[in-house]
Amino acid sequence: MLGGILVTLALSSSVWAIDVVKFRGDNGITEATGKILVQAADGGVLLLTPVGVLLPLGSSEVIEITQNDLPFQAATPKEAATYWLQRLPKNFEVYTTAHYVVLHNASRDYARWCGSLLERLYNGFTAYFSHKGLTIERPAFPLVIVVFATRQQYIEHCREEVGDAIERIQGHYNLETNVVTTYDLTGSNGTATAAQIARYIMQPGVQQTITTLVHEASHQLANNSGVTCRWTDTPQWVSEGLAMFFETPDLRSSRGWSTVGALNYERLQRFRAYLPQRPSDSLATLIRDNSRFQNLSTAMDAYAEAWALTYFLLQQNGQAFITYLARLREKSPLVYDSPEERVEDFSQAFGDLRQVESEFLRYILRLR
Ligand SMILES: [Zn+2]
Repeated sequence: MLGGILVTLALSSSVWAIDVVKFRGDNGITEATGKILVQAADGGVLLLTPVGVLLPLGSSEVIEITQNDLPFQAATPKEAATYWLQRLPKNFEVYTTAHYVVLHNASRDYARWCGSLLERLYNGFTAYFSHKGLTIERPAFPLVIVVFATRQQYIEHCREEVGDAIERIQGHYNLETNVVTTYDLTGSNGTATAAQIARYIMQPGVQQTITTLVHEASHQLANNSGVTCRWTDTPQWVSEGLAMFFETPDLRSSRGWSTVGALNYERLQRFRAYLPQRPSDSLATLIRDNSRFQNLSTAMDAYAEAWALTYFLLQQNGQAFITYLARLREKSPLVYDSPEERVEDFSQAFGDLRQVESEFLRYILRLR
């Protein structure tokens, strides 16, 4: 997604000034303000805008870069809502919670239910990492969730952004826009009342659907709370492993999030089914690059193994995992590590791969 720019420079030195980039956009010459995160040798830039959008601009698009003395300031929830409402169909409304801006043309009850679910995830997520000694930053940008009334509207609006995979998903998080988009999962076509939602979440099989929403929201949270960084190279087993660690929705409690760190049986079963044919270099191939996630025939096993590995490391070696995450965040923006560097970083954090492998398998086989 962010692979279009060849990067040679590190962080812009004037992080506090606002950068003003004049560029050729789809509708002629236009201007965007924000913070330049990287500038390529050829003149292309990656601009972080006040609403938290990452705008990659190629050298042929950039006309002029200037700066003003005002400090870079993230948009308020109201400003973020205004920005996104201009890019959505006319009938969207705003529902704001402590950390989220829910933009919806679904019912207000559904927006409220989403907001409350995500606030509980937020609390569970931040409490978990704070307890592990990781200082959790309050998100700099409002966390925006877009909820369409129907699946059809969701597919139509997002097909260009997501591609044909949109047919198979219930929601997605976009690293560039920083937005989670989903739809009214109850199937009420945007009319769900609180009572209907309460009945809906009690139905068998619904948990799996809501898991998708929580999974995508976990990606957004990890990238906005300082756990991972949107513009550095986070190995996919880490980003997916973390999202799966938190994805099991807690639908019972109205306050806490009791399922943080609970066993993810779906992923565990899948990993166990993979074990008989699991190659001896499986751990190495999972860590060294993202290819197993990108191939349809290997993706599900890669996800399961990423969950199992993340679960094992967080539960058994949490401090090393926190140190490893810090190492990943400190990397240069948009610079992608070689397979050797990935393995080296991993071994430095957790020890020799063969040793990790045997402890990992022993641990996972004991899980009940
Ligand atoms: Zn994911």
